[in-house]
Amino acid sequence: MGSQEVSNVDWQGKHVTVAGLGVSGIPAARVLHGLGAVVTVVNDGDDERSRTQAAELEAQGITVRLGDGATLPESTELIVTTPGWKPDKPLFTAAAEAGVPVWGDVELAWRLRGHDGREPAPWLAVTGTNGKTTTVRMLASILEAAGLRTAAVGNIGVSLLDAVLGDETYDVLAVELSSYQLHWSASLRAHSAAVLNLAPDHLDWHGSMEAYVADKGRIYEGNTVACVYNVADGATEDLVRQADVEEGCRAIGFTLGTPGPSQLGVVDGILVDRAFVTNRQKQAQELAEVADVNPPAPHNIANALAAAALARAFGVEPAAVRDGLRAFRSDPHRIEHVAEVGGVTYVDDSKATNTHAAEASLASYDPIVWIAGGLAKGATFDELVTGCAKRLRGVVLMGADRALIREALARHAPEVPVVDLDRTDTGAMSEAVREAARLARPGDTVLMAPACASMDMFVNYNKRGEAFADAVRALAAESA
Ligand code: ADP
Repeated sequence: MGSQEVSNVDWQGKHVTVAGLGVSGIPAARVLHGLGAVVTVVNDGDDERSRTQAAELEAQGITVRLGDGATLPESTELIVTTPGWKPDKPLFTAAAEAGVPVWGDVELAWRLRGHDGREPAPWLAVTGTNGKTTTVRMLASILEAAGLRTAAVGNIGVSLLDAVLGDETYDVLAVELSSYQLHWSASLRAHSAAVLNLAPDHLDWHGSMEAYVADKGRIYEGNTVACVYNVADGATEDLVRQADVEEGCRAIGFTLGTPGPSQLGVVDGILVDRAFVTNRQKQAQELAEVADVNPPAPHNIANALAAAALARAFGVEPAAVRDGLRAFRSDPHRIEHVAEVGGVTYVDDSKATNTHAAEASLASYDPIVWIAGGLAKGATFDELVTGCAKRLRGVVLMGADRALIREALARHAPEVPVVDLDRTDTGAMSEAVREAARLARPGDTVLMAPACASMDMFVNYNKRGEAFADAVRALAAESA
């Protein structure tokens, strides 16, 4: 199935194996079955939940194999995988040996565009280690302000399959793509795309930083109008250079400093465009004020510039960039102000699930009592700790991999008091907040930016953030 056969795949009777039940597996299986494919879902787990899900699918005529995600079902012509499945799984080795292609959920959605005869909406795509969701939502807000029919899709809001196959018609889509999804998306071709930043994350999944960066770089392949990169992060520009793009596609940089030609940047508190103007050597177009970005933290201004660059690449007028940014509100658990108790500010940045994200929020406050820890996903903490050591009033550690942070603190900030909570149960959060309150002085910020994933203690980062906010509110009630 070459990339040109997009909407012409004849699904009737095609044997497709869907790897993994779950958020993307179940809808993919249903859609493929609806198109006439002979679908088998394979799943590692065989618990009660998967049995219920399997029963529902089987009632519709879809075969489900529980407890065996490793064996390639006979006569499989294509695998559609849940992006979370690691590429080194035996199923994929077997597929490679048998010459069976593997698509991710994004690749499937991409291939099904225009399947029903409608003109497919172009994709403005965003990836990066941090800031994807924020940037995609800012972008959708800008596109809406320009009067375009659009949606923020990917890991947020509408699913890609729904956006492509649903009744709604879109002019353009703002698409968030993870490194996992990009890994399995060989034929995806965005109108324009941005890589916001690159820092080590998910290395246990990708196997190496090189492999992770290479997967992120796929987002630029075949771009038609603009490849947007971060001037402050040379690795993103390298990826643009390496990409095989359409003739005439431009490299557009964004910077928090004064922009050069073909860049967007900031001059005297104004977001300016020196890329999509008639004379970029001499001209700069005002887009918005820094104060229009909320919150106007440096990393968020960078996100706004990236969103603006993609919107401008699509032909959006400057006033819509400003209106869209003004209308945007950030999602919960991203540097969210929870409460002030006894002169101490409590901030929830539960979404800081890696060191790069935590670095951004740790740079935004001083002095800080830092609550950290969880699943490190193969990360190291020396650089993070060195960067923020001077601003730390104290640290409270919890979660499975807390020893890694404790050791980095001992190496680079030995004078900072550390409370090490030797527990990983959900209730640990209220103890952490109490300990943090004890360490904090009026004027300080207690910042929960764990630099780690949450799944050792919580269902997800939302639950971790809620646990923090509940604990802070309990503390406020006690001291009222
Ligand atoms: P993603 O979808 O990539 O996980 P989010 O927009 O949800 O990104 O933000 C994730 C975390 O990263 C938040 O904690 C936020 O404070 C931080 N963050 C957001 N944008 C940036 C950026 N440009 N650079 C570094 N950290 C960022």
